Amino acid sequence: MSTTPMDTGLLSARELRKSFAKVRAVDGVDLDLRSGETVGVVGESGSGKTTVGRLVSRLAAPDSGRVELDGRDITRLRGRGLKRVRRDLQVVFQDPYGSLDPSRTVGHAVGEPLAVHGVGTRGERADRVAGLLERVALDPVLAQRYPGELSGGQRQRVAIARAMALEPRVLVADEPTSALDLSTRSEILNLLLALQDENGLATLLISHDFATVRHLTHRIVVMYLGRVVEEGDAAELVAEPLHPYTRALLSAVPVPDPVRQRGRERIVLRGEQPDPANPPSGCRFRGRCPDAMPRCAETDPVLAGGSHRVACLLHEGK
Ligand code: SF4
Repeated sequence: MSTTPMDTGLLSARELRKSFAKVRAVDGVDLDLRSGETVGVVGESGSGKTTVGRLVSRLAAPDSGRVELDGRDITRLRGRGLKRVRRDLQVVFQDPYGSLDPSRTVGHAVGEPLAVHGVGTRGERADRVAGLLERVALDPVLAQRYPGELSGGQRQRVAIARAMALEPRVLVADEPTSALDLSTRSEILNLLLALQDENGLATLLISHDFATVRHLTHRIVVMYLGRVVEEGDAAELVAEPLHPYTRALLSAVPVPDPVRQRGRERIVLRGEQPDPANPPSGCRFRGRCPDAMPRCAETDPVLAGGSHRVACLLHEGK
């Protein structure tokens, strides 16, 4: 990554908690995102990463905890206040088809946020739409087409153009490429990277796939069963993962060098993720952890450390 974060604390979350029925989907998560920074949130399905994305982008309200944008508490905003915040906080989802109305043209989809926020005249908005389509490398004539006439990659570009229409400061991208084929996937990731470089956009990239986030992010946050278990500078965390869960996830990611690849050991996790409604005592990962010790059943490790933090008793006090 070439871009250096420019300032601190554009989007911050503290002690976020959210339950669905008896399941604590998010259980005390802190998160910080600076201008121009891309943070990857990685974890298996059920880790709570999508819920964290929904909470920090204010698509859902936490049961407790706080979300701040530029130092302003936005946790409980509603109505007009929330609408204003939406200009700065945009989301791109996994399935662009689900987020685009099939009965409306591409031009309508991209221009709608501008119309909703009363930006420009109809003619000025049409010009802005054409400019936005060019920015995501689509021919502006596609404005007349319908989502069903486009490829998956083109639809995701339209969804990104729509998200960029109001020039947000934060983009939350939730599995933005996992519905796409491999070559389209890297095109879309490169597009997100280019937009970030152009605009100083802060991006939260949520993914189940370490391979997607490792080269694209400044920092990585690893989640397991509703909690952050490791967090740090992306290059450092990938080079020296501390949590056994992170090590297992990374061991499944192939490296391009065939000699190094042959010498690598894949860490296969035991068993399934435990029932999130009934997590185990002590460390939640202990049932699957290759390094579990007897006291892991008694003590719930806390996230600790300096710039590279980990929640594991193996690293306690280090
Ligand atoms: Fe494994 Fe124990 Fe560390 Fe949990 S605290 S990750 S069970 S070693």
